[in-house]
Amino acid sequence: MAAPPRTTPAQELLDLLGPVEGFHSREEYGDFGLPARVTQEDYLAPFARASRDSHLGPLEKVHAFWFAGMSCDGCTVSVTGATAPSVESLLLATHPGLPQVVLHHPVVNLESGPNYMEAAERALKGELDAPYVIILEGSSTDETLAVPHGGYWSAQGEEPWGEGGEMRTVTIDEWIARLAPGAAAALAIGTCATWGGVPAARGNPTGAMALMDFLGKDYRSTFGLPVVNIPGCAPQGDNFTETVAAILYFLQGFGPLPEFDELGRPAWLFGETVHRTCTRGAYYEEGAFADEFGDPECLVEIGCWGPVVNCNITSRGAIRHVGGCMNTGGACIGCTMPGFPDKFTPFYKRPPGSTMSTLASRTVGALVTPLRRYTTEHLNRTPRWDRQDFVPSGWSREREEPGFIADLGHRFYDALRRSNDTSKSDAVEWGRGPNTIGDD
Ligand code: SF4
Ligand code: SF4
Repeated sequence: MAAPPRTTPAQELLDLLGPVEGFHSREEYGDFGLPARVTQEDYLAPFARASRDSHLGPLEKVHAFWFAGMSCDGCTVSVTGATAPSVESLLLATHPGLPQVVLHHPVVNLESGPNYMEAAERALKGELDAPYVIILEGSSTDETLAVPHGGYWSAQGEEPWGEGGEMRTVTIDEWIARLAPGAAAALAIGTCATWGGVPAARGNPTGAMALMDFLGKDYRSTFGLPVVNIPGCAPQGDNFTETVAAILYFLQGFGPLPEFDELGRPAWLFGETVHRTCTRGAYYEEGAFADEFGDPECLVEIGCWGPVVNCNITSRGAIRHVGGCMNTGGACIGCTMPGFPDKFTPFYKRPPGSTMSTLASRTVGALVTPLRRYTTEHLNRTPRWDRQDFVPSGWSREREEPGFIADLGHRFYDALRRSNDTSKSDAVEWGRGPNTIGDD
């Protein structure tokens, strides 16, 4: 195994930029970017449930700095749809024992411009009134490629950190590199931030990489956590908010650190493959495969990678247990995986590794499926209908009654099923026979 690099991209960037001092002055910008004349934190304070008097643990609130690197904002969209818990409930601290989350998000906050950046500045100065976590949506990049040319890949705000105190644009990577050491936790949301994702696909002119590539293997938050990863493109919103809540309970001292796998994914959310909870799984087992999108069967032959992909969207759905790839007809393209997208392209082509298992399930299915259909037909009849040799349905039922051989098979099946029935009695047998009391 190759040794990890001696320095990290985050450290290389800080070495290039050097230390910074000095910030905006409040007098200078006044209420600029503060159209409601109030910050989001102050606006929500009267509605929040957690307070100095009501909180059950040491933390009354936690600041959450959301940064968008090489991102499409899809993670933001999906998290705003979360319901268990919802973003609103975290912001208002409606969960017993959870501290209030004071969110600093470039899209949803009331304040903007220098007033928006002020909280991050206070965090850097060590003057924030509560612990903070950092959240990255979108990949980190290699800003050392851009800095020498006077440019940048992704940025947020300006600070007087240029030569002679001149204002200069501050990149997302610089904010992350400077804030990460003091953060209570560093969370990567979405496949771009967790593994590199689409911006890091082959070619990759920006040097896009995962947050854990950027901060390095040895990164630990002030609470001792490595980077926490919640992948997906876009991720399931509840996967994120549920993980945040679990970490907050840990920070609050209410429970152990939830279980993460060796890549920092919440183990209880990403421990299973898509296939294991897929609503189309039984089609795979019976060797019934879709020829085109819109067909109800298993999608593996038109490009589904579900059997080898860690993702819970088939069981959790997209929002409120509704939607989700296969549930709505989409094949899995592996968007939660570190190998995405390069190891899954070309999309919507049959994964080569599926050939052997689909052949096996086709072979088994050729035997098992007719037997199941035969048993289902038997189970779709009441014992009374069996005895009277007649189904009183007015719904155009034109099916023939089971013949002698089919009936014999059903009787054998019933006898087999009841062979270990400890409550057996001599009461009327099931299956066809002479009419019994109650039968007309
Ligand atoms: S559609 Fe995909 S995940 Fe679902 S059963 Fe088929 S291969 Fe498995
Ligand atoms: S099923 Fe596949 S494509 Fe859909 S969200 Fe999960 S990993 Fe992504």
